[in-house]
Amino acid sequence: MKDILVIGGGFAGVWSAAGAVRAARAAGHGGEELRVTLVSGGDDLVIRPRLYEDDPETMRVPLDRVLGPIGVRRHTATVTGIDTEARTVRAVGREGVELTISYDKLVLAAGSRLVRPVFPGAEDVFDIDTLSAAAALDHHLRRLPRREPTGGRYTAVVVGAGFTGLEIATVMGERLRAIAEAGGAAEDVRVVLVDRADVLGPELGPGPRAQIDSAVDELKIERRLGLTVASASPEQVVLSDGEIIPTATVIWTAGMAASPLTAQIPGEHDRLGRLNVDAHMRVIGVPDVYAAGDTAVGPAEEGHRTIQSCQHAQPMGKCAGHNVAAELLGTAPLAFVSDPYSNALDLGTAGAVLTTGWERTVVATGAEAKTMKQNINTMWIYPAVDDPEQILAQAGRLLNS
Ligand SMILES: Cc1cc2nc3c(=O)[nH]c(=O)nc-3n(C[C@H](O)[C@H](O)[C@H](O)COP(=O)(O)OP(=O)(O)OC[C@H]3O[C@@H](n4cnc5c(N)ncnc54)[C@H](O)[C@@H]3O)c2cc1C
Repeated sequence: MKDILVIGGGFAGVWSAAGAVRAARAAGHGGEELRVTLVSGGDDLVIRPRLYEDDPETMRVPLDRVLGPIGVRRHTATVTGIDTEARTVRAVGREGVELTISYDKLVLAAGSRLVRPVFPGAEDVFDIDTLSAAAALDHHLRRLPRREPTGGRYTAVVVGAGFTGLEIATVMGERLRAIAEAGGAAEDVRVVLVDRADVLGPELGPGPRAQIDSAVDELKIERRLGLTVASASPEQVVLSDGEIIPTATVIWTAGMAASPLTAQIPGEHDRLGRLNVDAHMRVIGVPDVYAAGDTAVGPAEEGHRTIQSCQHAQPMGKCAGHNVAAELLGTAPLAFVSDPYSNALDLGTAGAVLTTGWERTVVATGAEAKTMKQNINTMWIYPAVDDPEQILAQAGRLLNS
């Protein structure tokens, strides 16, 4: 019996586990020669791209409904150590029980995390990086009507005008307005977007900038560009130019890094801490270790490198899963393929903007792009559940389209 161990129950981890089962079954092997185990800190696949939406606690799929039907074993535990020489992983379960899990092949798919800021009052700042953080923000917003009607009760300051910052900022006015109206409050709703750069969506390039600027204008979101936060408290935020904005809600979205577990694997890491993988998702120079999703960086189409996104995490996971099983069973590996790069940015009631290509050429805006974004968010990124045939068929489709 050979053991494949997958760390992480996100998009890359789930599809790595399913991809390995599918490859083994396609090669005529049942569970008797190859055992697939997934260890994750939680019991759900969290649909992270939806955490800017209302009701974030519903943005999850129970892992047992995807992995159970295809015979993947599961541990709910937090991995604390990886020994690539001994081929063991240490983890701590919910009740504090320590586990040591051996593997023949490992897939690291522990994702990424927001780099939390360091300034006075940073502990009062919200984020939407994890389900629990997004839920904490949602609970806070819903409790705003109970607060004293001081200035800033319905003001939100979003820090970081990148992809995540733009998505939360452009829905925040609508969310705050609904809460204020339900609470019978007459105060103004205000959303302020802060970024160090002097443009919105700096990493999205000039392609969709006109649509982003016009949506921010339409939604009356205030810009504070070329600035950051100096300090925050539950009542206000102070910007780096000394401006004081009364607010009950500061949301931090700037800066992502790969899971700190990547530091426990030798090999080359990029500036985000991602492990360098080849086209088969093998960590270069580290035998028996593969990585996928936000923990890894590998070759994408036309000489580009993969980016931290579902769009890449899903096919990277399927590819890694296939290849760990193929390596153990002596069958043919698969090289990574992905759909041509595209990007769908929600702009709240101002619609959405859809781009294709690495230059991010705008191909749809307004209602058309909004429908596409909603289809991505509510259907295309969800795994099949309960039905093993459908789950394994999905694992075999390397392209998202
Ligand atoms: C608010 C937001 C909006 C986004 N919007 C988009 C979008 O529109 N389009 C897009 O393509 N991408 C988007 N992304 C990025 C996308 O969500 C990630 O790229 C994707 O989730 C990466 O998948 P992953 O499986 O690599 O990691 P994750 O989804 O982060 O999953 C990591 C898994 O590893 C587990 N884990 C982590 N550490 C440990 C540990 N020590 N022990 C055990 N388990 C561990 C976690 O519990 C989790 O199950 C967004 C992200 C956020 C936060």
